[in-house]
Amino acid sequence: MDKQLHIRAVMIEDGCERDLVIADGRVIDASPAPGVTPDATGWVLPGLVDMHNHLSLASPAGDDPDPAIRVRASASVELALGVLAIREPGSPDDASAGLASEEGWPRVITAGRFLAPPGGYFPGLAREVSAAELPDAAVQEARRSRGWVKIIGDFLSGGRFVTNWPVGALREAVGRVHAEGGRVAIHAVGAEVVADAIAVGVDSIEHGQAVTDADFAVMRDRGIALVPTLNPALAEEAFEFALSVGASRETAAWMRESVRSQPATVARAHEHGVVVLAGTDAGQFPHGAIVDQIQFLADGGMPVNAAIGAGSWTARRYLGLSALEPETPADLVVYEEDPRADLSVLRRPALIVLGGHLVSQPVGAMRH
Ligand SMILES: [Zn+2]
Repeated sequence: MDKQLHIRAVMIEDGCERDLVIADGRVIDASPAPGVTPDATGWVLPGLVDMHNHLSLASPAGDDPDPAIRVRASASVELALGVLAIREPGSPDDASAGLASEEGWPRVITAGRFLAPPGGYFPGLAREVSAAELPDAAVQEARRSRGWVKIIGDFLSGGRFVTNWPVGALREAVGRVHAEGGRVAIHAVGAEVVADAIAVGVDSIEHGQAVTDADFAVMRDRGIALVPTLNPALAEEAFEFALSVGASRETAAWMRESVRSQPATVARAHEHGVVVLAGTDAGQFPHGAIVDQIQFLADGGMPVNAAIGAGSWTARRYLGLSALEPETPADLVVYEEDPRADLSVLRRPALIVLGGHLVSQPVGAMRH
């Protein structure tokens, strides 16, 4: 057995104090041990989680190196911030799958390659399949990724967001992936595909700008999570970007307004019982931005603890990962102050522990 690590923790999730005893990579005890001098004390999370991160895109290694190098460079940025689990909803390659079997990286749950019809996504990124091929391709990607598949649900065409698939193809794909125990994430921006995605019962709606209050009850009842990838300060940029990729002025203006209003919409979704999870869309944006998402959720009106949970314990449990229950992997981050009082504390991890091992040089520690 390795040397034990003893952390006296205030659990940020519920405010309870626990003495976490870590050995052999796991939390072996969490009962109070007042007589023991701990190795560290502080406020503790089971790590941050980025639910929407494309590791091989926007890598700090640049676009030229091999995908295996790009995903590791991106994962290093996330790890230094205390991101200990990443769901990758689609990739242009299979490189992230390699991280899952290597020690020392955040727990990566990839969805394999993006699935889109020809012309239904940004050029060069997706595995392109026809509607007839979608169900088989979805099963293949879910099997290869050991769980998740990502379907690009809509894209701009003729100036507006148009669904990429007949609803029947989407229904069959989702049904077949579910029959194998897999889960489906769908890129869904416009109203048409959001309605279809909810009707066929996908597992998570990514972006979801067109989700409205009328959708909350059925999303809650069907267990459809919302991963909004918020960026309210970039509403004007979203407008310009939409125009530059062919949106009509009307569609671009809708995009600007929905980007602005989405944090508040998402807060209401949470209030109505929809599972809201934090995702950065790194790849489209730079890596290392999960704390911004948590801040946007809180600024939009989500209770601060729920906002932190959306980027931590709630997301871990949604992914089937543990969250510091006894006898589970010791993935945790320690902070010197309470992030519930000041979310910027999340940018300064004091101690990062992944699978029971200390991660060297967290960004917070480097500043001391
Ligand atoms: Zn994305």
